[in-house]
Amino acid sequence: MKQLQNYKWRNWSSTSNCSPERMYYPSSIHDVVAIVEAATKNHKKIRVVGAGHSFTNLVMTEEWLVSLDNLTGVKEVDDNNHTVTVYGGTRLYDLSKALEKLGYAQENLGDINLQSIAGAISTGTHGTGIQFGSIPTQVKELTFVTAGGNLLTLNEENNVELFKASLVSLGMFGIIIEVKLQVVPSPVYRYISDHVYYPNLLNNLDKYILDNQHFEFFMFPYAEQVQTKTMNPTNTSPKSIKLHQWNNLILENYMFQAVSHLCLLTPSLSRSISRLSAKLVNKATINAKSYQLFATPRKVRFIEMEYGIPLEHFKEAIQEIRETIVQNQYTVHFPIECRTVKHDDIWLSPSYKRDSAYIAFHVYKGMEYRTYFRDMETIMKKYNGRPHWGKMHQQKTKDFRKMYPKWDRFIQLRELVDPEKIFINRYLDELFYNDERVKV
Ligand SMILES: Cc1cc2nc3c(=O)[nH]c(=O)nc-3n(C[C@H](O)[C@H](O)[C@H](O)COP(=O)(O)OP(=O)(O)OC[C@H]3O[C@@H](n4cnc5c(N)ncnc54)[C@H](O)[C@@H]3O)c2cc1C
Repeated sequence: MKQLQNYKWRNWSSTSNCSPERMYYPSSIHDVVAIVEAATKNHKKIRVVGAGHSFTNLVMTEEWLVSLDNLTGVKEVDDNNHTVTVYGGTRLYDLSKALEKLGYAQENLGDINLQSIAGAISTGTHGTGIQFGSIPTQVKELTFVTAGGNLLTLNEENNVELFKASLVSLGMFGIIIEVKLQVVPSPVYRYISDHVYYPNLLNNLDKYILDNQHFEFFMFPYAEQVQTKTMNPTNTSPKSIKLHQWNNLILENYMFQAVSHLCLLTPSLSRSISRLSAKLVNKATINAKSYQLFATPRKVRFIEMEYGIPLEHFKEAIQEIRETIVQNQYTVHFPIECRTVKHDDIWLSPSYKRDSAYIAFHVYKGMEYRTYFRDMETIMKKYNGRPHWGKMHQQKTKDFRKMYPKWDRFIQLRELVDPEKIFINRYLDELFYNDERVKV
């Protein structure tokens, strides 16, 4: 098994970095068990990294870091039940390609596909479409290596409580080595990117959400034009998406990178650049396989905060966001990404028991983001928002306890599988245990 010392790790956005004492790349389940056994014996803490695409300090450790980059791929396919079992380190882009060969697809994905399946599940990664839950809702079964090196397989039948707790558990239950996913026969979608005026969007928002399988919109600060993206099944055959990908690369990446750099050098340009970007948005209609359309390249580095709020507050919230931005004249040019997600019953999922509108705020890497994020977070909290676990936020244990009815029970169950807290780092300790009420 590959093993490194003096390793320097940093996440995608460079908002988190660390120097773990050891970095392990297990290539079998046996290797993973051996690492966890050794860590338990030597009182070492372990964190697992997927693709490092979370913005917070979830992965950070000075002790042992484990990557499942050598434990990937499809293990089993069940054509009767439309499920596949994959190894925890499998990246979503590899999974999509493998599923396509088998005639399947994931029913929904987020806007990139670089994440590992285990990382995406553990943080509640989501796409858009009110008929679809987040990625963890696609999971039928999870297999962990828990503290002491024990194998634990969880599903709704063998332990529904532990299963629902473990689905969004930020690496705190142990190392996810296998995931059984519900998949769908690979669909062809028609994707339409368009411009609409904000008042028209607001008037027709319910219709947009209900009439489309997948709908999202990008609200540019200070601009009247909003970009809408819809995706729906079509019987038309798929076409090459090379031109679309090329346009995306040029407009949404290289050109956007150039103007973002201008904003970094001269922040006061942000307002006009935001308005210009809204006008330049690519209008397009494309028919292609769903997995080719869900994800787009994101070459411009940014810092992101995202909250899920109850769907019924969507309109009020975006109106307040727009007004606050204009009032306070933040120097921000990145559009605000707005999506919808169906309710679920996963204990720490931001969509737990409520259909949700997810609103994401981005700032170009290197530009000031704190005041903007703080003020937007106040709005999100006013509407009972719950933060995305992989993105920036300022919430504490006492806030989470109010947000999540199963919070205390989650901690009790977590302790059953990891009583010595070997899977907890300083950041998670602060987030989950900084409260008198929970006995550790
Ligand atoms: C450009 C960009 C676009 C994004 N788009 C979206 C989006 O559209 N929708 C959305 O919801 N989110 C989005 N995100 C956030 C991202 O999907 C999540 O933060 C996700 O967790 C990242 O997956 P990862 O593999 O990088 O996990 P990491 O960030 O490496 O890890 C995340 C958590 O998962 C745990 N983990 C990883 N592997 C395992 C394992 N094998 N066993 C147990 N625990 C494990 C880690 O310990 C950590 O707690 C985006 C992020 C970026 C940078």
